[in-house]
Amino acid sequence: MTNVYNFNAGPSSIPAPVLEKAKNEMFNFEQSGMAVMEMSHRSPLYEKIHFGAMDQLRKIYHIPDEFEVLFLQGGASLQFSMIPLNFLGKNQKASYVLTGSWSEKALKEASALGEVETLSSSKDNQYKYIPETDLSQLSENVAYVHLTSNNTIFGTQWPTFPKKKNVPVIVDMSSDVLSRNLPWEDLDMIYAGGQKNAGMAGVTLVVIRKSLLETANDELPPSLSYKQHAKSDSLYNTPPTAAVYITGLVANWIDECGGVEEMNRRARAKAEMIYNVIDESNDFYTGHAEFSARSTMNITFRLADEQLEKAFLSEAKEAGFVGLNGHRSVGGCRVSSYNAVPLKHVEVLRDFMIDFMKKNR
Ligand SMILES: *Cc1c(COP(=O)(O)O)cnc(C)c1O
Repeated sequence: MTNVYNFNAGPSSIPAPVLEKAKNEMFNFEQSGMAVMEMSHRSPLYEKIHFGAMDQLRKIYHIPDEFEVLFLQGGASLQFSMIPLNFLGKNQKASYVLTGSWSEKALKEASALGEVETLSSSKDNQYKYIPETDLSQLSENVAYVHLTSNNTIFGTQWPTFPKKKNVPVIVDMSSDVLSRNLPWEDLDMIYAGGQKNAGMAGVTLVVIRKSLLETANDELPPSLSYKQHAKSDSLYNTPPTAAVYITGLVANWIDECGGVEEMNRRARAKAEMIYNVIDESNDFYTGHAEFSARSTMNITFRLADEQLEKAFLSEAKEAGFVGLNGHRSVGGCRVSSYNAVPLKHVEVLRDFMIDFMKKNR
């Protein structure tokens, strides 16, 4: 199709076979004479897309029957307030682990709705690491613990999840959903905006334990209530039909590739390729994340000075690489190598980084 190498942080690359399938099928879905986005969300045709996507996600992610799968809207950001609205009671507090900008935002939105505390944080060292977090220390009145599994901006990731104790664990997985298998027994709810690893912007994937769902606040406006959305099979109001359709195609693609296990194998191989360049560069490139917290999804690094960094980014752009600028809040460089980014593209980037280093050191 085109010859750009898309390393955007989000919205980001979508698997080429998914785009191809959508191109061939989306505008005349199953010979109905209608495009996916023209169909009634109450029609059997759309129901097939909707429940098909849910079933496929359950299959590839090994989601146990004790969990509901929801398709919501408002992005991961609306979850920042829906979570406290649904689960943070009057005499309780919510406990947040701060590992980057998104967890700060999650905490901030919750603090507008109830009492919050910071359980642990790596802010003291520019969010370079994942803080030691022991869930057995939590006091009785903690409503839930909130983590961010992958820190899109700083490039760190929880290598494993803390063992759950008596308090529900809720995890923002916006930037590493579907990239590794999960220990469902240690989790009560995960959520992710669609636009990084699960398709396109517009749909927010929520997977929630039914026993947690039962404890949700009953007095909310229905459109903010997980119970309502679950009861309506995520068809309480018009869902983002086209985005759900794309998520279904992405889930099928993952299945055909060999599942989330294979996505994880690829993610590790791709990340290692870039981290190796960084590690063998004698500080020409310096990684932001501490070794043990390195993300397989977002690889963040800097060059020796701002001028060199500018030259790197501008030559990279020239060479067809898209999205290598670090987040505007932190600068530097970032390689977002989500599921859809082909290994081949990472190889080309690796070679470009090595060449640039040889010419400029
Ligand atoms: C991108 C991102 C968000 C924000 O997602 P929206 O869908 O834009 O609200 C939240 N958390 C993390 C970890 C992200 O990477």
